[in-house]
Amino acid sequence: MTTIGVLALQGDVREHMQALSRIGVTPVGVRRVRELEAVEGLVIPGGESTTIDKLLRIFELYEPLRTRLAEGLPVLGTCAGMIMLATDIIGGIEGQQTLGAIPMTVRRNAFGRQVDSSEVQLTWRPDGSTMHATFIRAPWVESFGDDVEVLAVDEAHGDRTVAVRHGNAIATSFHPEIVAPGAVADDRVHALLAEIVAAR
Ligand code: GLN
Repeated sequence: MTTIGVLALQGDVREHMQALSRIGVTPVGVRRVRELEAVEGLVIPGGESTTIDKLLRIFELYEPLRTRLAEGLPVLGTCAGMIMLATDIIGGIEGQQTLGAIPMTVRRNAFGRQVDSSEVQLTWRPDGSTMHATFIRAPWVESFGDDVEVLAVDEAHGDRTVAVRHGNAIATSFHPEIVAPGAVADDRVHALLAEIVAAR
C-alpha cells in the first residue's frame, strides 16, 4: 500500500490524514528525518507558513526536505503549504524561507480582509468539473514559470491562479482537506497526489 506522509509540525495535519485514509492511502506523520526518508509522497498542510518554516529548521528537516523535493518527491502543499513550495514570496516576514519546489511567486494573505475566508466554486481543470473550495487567509500565485501547469483559477476573485502543478509537485491556495459541514468529501486533489506517487 502507498505510504504518504503529512508534515506534522503545525497546521491541519489530521484533516489531511483523514483525506488520505479515505482514498486508501496509509498516512504517516512526519516530524523526523527518518520518517521523511520512508515516505513515497508528502503533504505540507495549511497552517502558518512562518511557523512551519521555523519548525522545519528546529527539527532539522529543512535541508533534507529541500533535497528530497529537488529529487522529485511527490508533494502537495495547501495554503501555507503552497507558500512553502514556492521559490519566492510577496508579503512574507523578514527572513522567511521556502523550499523552492515550484518556480512561482506567491502573494501571502493575498485576498484581503473582505474575503479573508471564502467558499468558491472552481473549475478543476484536470477533468473540467466543478470543485467547491475553501479559502482561509490564502495566498494566490502571482506569477509562475513556463513549465508550471495551472490546475484551477478563482474566477470569483479576479481570475487568480489558485492551484498549480510542476512535475511531481502540486500546490493549492485552498484547503481540499476541509469538508464543509453536511458536504461530501471531495478528495480529487489528494487522489492526484496518489496518482503521481503511483506513476513514479
Ligand atoms: N496565511 C497563512 C500563511 O501565511 C496561510 C493560511 C492557511 O494555511 N490557511 O502561512
